[in-house]
Amino acid sequence: MTPFNKVIIVDWSARSAPSPKRPSADAIWIAVHENGTDETTYLRTRHEAAAFLAAAFETAVARGQRVLAGFDFPFGYPAGFAQALTGRSDPFAIWDWLSENIEDAPSNANNRFEVAAKINAQFPGTGPFWGRPADRILTGLPDKGRARTGYDQPERRAIEECVPSAQPVWKLYTTGSVGSQALLGLPVLANLRRQFARDICVWPFDTPDRAIVMAEVYPSLLSDTVNAICAAEPEAIKDEVQVRVLARALSRLSPTDLATAFDAAPDVAKEEGWILGVGVESALRRAAAPDIAPPRLKNDCFALPPGVDWVPVDEALATLRAGLAPVVKTLSLPLSEAVGRVLAGDHIAVRSNPPRPNSAVDGYGFAHASTGDGPQVLPLVAGSAAAGRDGGPVPHGAAIRILTGAALPKGVDTVVLEEDTTLRDGHVAFEGPVKPGANARAAGEDVRKGDIVAPKGRRLRPPDLAALTAAGLGELTVFDRLRVGVLSTGDELLEPDDDAGARGIFDANRPMLLGLASGWGHSTRDLGIAPDDRDAVRGTLNAAVRTCDAILTSGGASAGDEDHISALLRSEGTVATWRIAVKPGRPLLLGLWQGVPVFGLPGNPVAAFVCALIFARPALGVLAGQDWPEPLGFDVPATFTKRKKAGRREYLRARLTPDGYAEAFKSEGSGRVSGISWATGLVELEDGARDIAPGDPVRFLPFGSFGV
Ligand code: AMP
Ligand code: MG
Repeated sequence: MTPFNKVIIVDWSARSAPSPKRPSADAIWIAVHENGTDETTYLRTRHEAAAFLAAAFETAVARGQRVLAGFDFPFGYPAGFAQALTGRSDPFAIWDWLSENIEDAPSNANNRFEVAAKINAQFPGTGPFWGRPADRILTGLPDKGRARTGYDQPERRAIEECVPSAQPVWKLYTTGSVGSQALLGLPVLANLRRQFARDICVWPFDTPDRAIVMAEVYPSLLSDTVNAICAAEPEAIKDEVQVRVLARALSRLSPTDLATAFDAAPDVAKEEGWILGVGVESALRRAAAPDIAPPRLKNDCFALPPGVDWVPVDEALATLRAGLAPVVKTLSLPLSEAVGRVLAGDHIAVRSNPPRPNSAVDGYGFAHASTGDGPQVLPLVAGSAAAGRDGGPVPHGAAIRILTGAALPKGVDTVVLEEDTTLRDGHVAFEGPVKPGANARAAGEDVRKGDIVAPKGRRLRPPDLAALTAAGLGELTVFDRLRVGVLSTGDELLEPDDDAGARGIFDANRPMLLGLASGWGHSTRDLGIAPDDRDAVRGTLNAAVRTCDAILTSGGASAGDEDHISALLRSEGTVATWRIAVKPGRPLLLGLWQGVPVFGLPGNPVAAFVCALIFARPALGVLAGQDWPEPLGFDVPATFTKRKKAGRREYLRARLTPDGYAEAFKSEGSGRVSGISWATGLVELEDGARDIAPGDPVRFLPFGSFGV
């Protein structure tokens, strides 16, 4: 299919007077998306809108462009209506009939209710149309849908069965009624169709192969995206956001997805019309997500205050926290693919949970007001209410069998537990008084529509998915995964399958750091081992910044001759050497290589591990869009004796014993790699002096609170 150069989305309005001068909701909004940019226009009357569209179509035709024009009202009516109204089963016969009968003045004054009454008069019974303002009393146009009888037309089109939230075409008044919009919109489209006879086609009635394709759209397909934008911009007008977002999404849909959307209409759509985008909702949502270019880090983001010699741990962490910001893009993902991702915005419930009051137990439901003190005997109505299957209604003074999770039937506000009842002869007996509302869950008692279910910066755990799903959020706005590269440096380092002989040592840091980073939810890049050679390290870093958002290196971080990472960053990038008052740990290097943050960890695996947990984890978290993670610890008695001087913080490899003591590894030697595997957490000894005897409280930080 030839791609479109321009997508126009129209939010129609059935107002009977011009919309306010100041742009407002419930008016006509038109978005035009072209060449990657969009413009929305606010129009106060349908006449203005018709002129706007004619001008846009004319320009497009003159330039040989292809235009997709979407309108948010039904293009057709349930099958059979065209025949009954016009004697032909052609949807365009309805368009022409309406353009002959509808009068719509430049002021928006119109005769749609009279026309609806006139149509109704052609049908048996009341006719299908209903709904009008209380003061427009018209014989032949009922004000309530349920007042209609005998008109012999289906209530909904096939597409409205697929999209249950879409409103039926017969409803002309109050919220969400598209019926009036169609009556006042179709004559405008009929006119455009006559005016651009050779260049316009109307999908799905025609094959969508001409310069201008008009199609029915439904902006609520993108309600998650729209709600997120509106929540972030309280000033935004939802109607304006809707047309803009839908125009952008349709413009960016891949040719395959677009073709799928056009092919999705079944045969019945040739008469009834169809909604463009149904069937490709996920692709549409992905295409709708805003492009947010992540900010670059500032060159001085790792600068420590001048004159500081040994930086206390808390100060180092505060500097990291202040200097870093997310560097990843946002995207929209189906919830089923979002575990471990970080939310890029607050996620607001689009539905209350529970959506309707329901029963918390298996038992019998009734109106509390029909019961009193002492023994109660209520007749049971036939049937029952179960989760997913409604029951009732229940008359005052009667009861119904109800199961856990069932929506409370009409007439029920209280439930008595099955175990507290006896049944005999179609009656249920129990002891009163029963508390009003007993065993009933109120609608929204868990989460109310509009509440924040999960905040921006949350890394999604499986329970978050449950809460978000219950609140109706199927598509989430998340950050792209942070791509973390891991590089080891040192001439002595060997790969696991190298023939070791007596020379060298195996590279223990890389598998550990790769595992930590992926456990923290990042996507990892193994950058291998670089020798202690400036050119080799430079080459590796130059290649790495093309595929990494952050780089962890180990080794070569101090100021010795062999320490090329440090020398290289100093001369060709930016770097700050942080001498942190921490044990284990040597200087931590924090630098930027072509704008990409590099965390230079100590080479010693024990120090590399501890520094990764304490410093790299929160820093990478912030780069990935996550809230600053504070490790949770608790005080437990020590099994050991230790004397520590003031001036630096110490982390001991430790284990929690079954009876709740902290046991320290037998050696504090930082070369003892086996100790980090033996341990299940760290004991954190504060910066001041400590003289610890067995039984004294020490702070234990389980590895779990570092996401390990
Ligand atoms: P460096 O920071 O390069 O001076 O290294 C400090 C110590 O850690 C030296 O004993 C190195 O051999 C050792 N070391 C450095 N990198 C690694 C590694 N990837 N795996 C195991 N040991 C390492
Ligand atoms: Mg080295």
